[in-house]
Amino acid sequence: MPGTLSERPQLQHLTAQLDELKQKGTYFRLRVLDDVQAPVCTYDGKRVINLASNNYLGLTAHPKLREAAIEAIKMYGVGSGAVRTIAGTMKIHMELEEKIARFKNVEACVVFQSGFTANAGTVSSILGKEDFIISDELNHASIIDGARLSRAKIKVFRHKDVSHAEEILKEIASEPGRKLIITDGVFSMDGDIGPVDQLCDLAEKYGAIMMVDDAHASGVLGRNGRGSVDHFGCHGRVDIQVGTLSKAIGALGGYVCGSRDLIDFLYHRARPFLFSTSHPPSVTATCIAAFDLLESEPERIERLWDNTRYFKAELGGMGFDIGGLTTPASETPITPILVGDGKRTMEFSRALFDAGVMATGIAFPTVPEGKARIRTIMTSEHTREQLDQALETLERIARKMGILG
Ligand code: PMP
Repeated sequence: MPGTLSERPQLQHLTAQLDELKQKGTYFRLRVLDDVQAPVCTYDGKRVINLASNNYLGLTAHPKLREAAIEAIKMYGVGSGAVRTIAGTMKIHMELEEKIARFKNVEACVVFQSGFTANAGTVSSILGKEDFIISDELNHASIIDGARLSRAKIKVFRHKDVSHAEEILKEIASEPGRKLIITDGVFSMDGDIGPVDQLCDLAEKYGAIMMVDDAHASGVLGRNGRGSVDHFGCHGRVDIQVGTLSKAIGALGGYVCGSRDLIDFLYHRARPFLFSTSHPPSVTATCIAAFDLLESEPERIERLWDNTRYFKAELGGMGFDIGGLTTPASETPITPILVGDGKRTMEFSRALFDAGVMATGIAFPTVPEGKARIRTIMTSEHTREQLDQALETLERIARKMGILG
């Protein structure tokens, strides 16, 4: 009789790596949500104030979105049946793409299965090995993976350092390859805003393609949540805008906005589009309803920003290090609380959970060694009472652990 799979020698190197994480104190178990994603919800059987989700506008459980999904299932069933290029393009997919293109004020849009595949599928397909990618050092993993898959030469500039980006562009100015400048609109671990306007200036000066990943800016920055391009008034200057449908929009997916030919090209060459089945109609219908809400309920975005300003001011007043990571510090609903040591950060996160606050500890390799932090995220739906309770808990536990002096 063969033993269990765990006893086989084939994957023992994975077990050894997990043991190493356990020793370092950065091993984690997945927290399991028992009910609806909301400002107060139940993880692992415990009621907690939730400071960890990307559900910026509270749309994951909005009645109009639920209704849209149910109606779509009744009308179209639960699956699309194929990849987009074979038989899986439904009218509702086209409707969502047209809606996003109008919202973003661009010619065209294509939806991917996730923000990850939107970034990776785009960056990997539009460039080849003679080309250059000039990328902020804190850009999202999906951009890094897309860059590697493209086989283009990757040049990383220091975080938000436009002069460094320019130095790189000067160095490679005489090279024949195309150049792509790419930045996150909002950086996911620090919550600061990318210098989109200044990078657009560089792109124009050096004839580079300009791309922005607005995963955390869509639904958050700009008029009605139009994103960082709108925030900076850079319409018509960014060739490629990526966004996600998985955060503020409340459902799942990613999209790319740009010229008609860019989108047409991605139809023909982006591998996740070509080789992976399209969204079920319920997800697509949910997203259509969400974009309608961005226009009809702008007060959600105002509430998000009110909560963000309040929470940051209170945390800063308590003496937490929320600003030492970047210059300027986080300006968005993502507020990191710097702890430094990975193990201590994870202990802080666990103690917070036990005391009724869900705030994720983030350590290496997601952030650099020595920069571990608790990441907090506001939503429009948190009440002042919930925030006050979370703040009181953060302060109490941090003092007990010596994180606050
Ligand atoms: N870009 C950034 C900056 C992100 O933070 C994320 C999500 N972690 C993504 C892209 C990927 O989006 P999705 O979760 O929709 O795949």
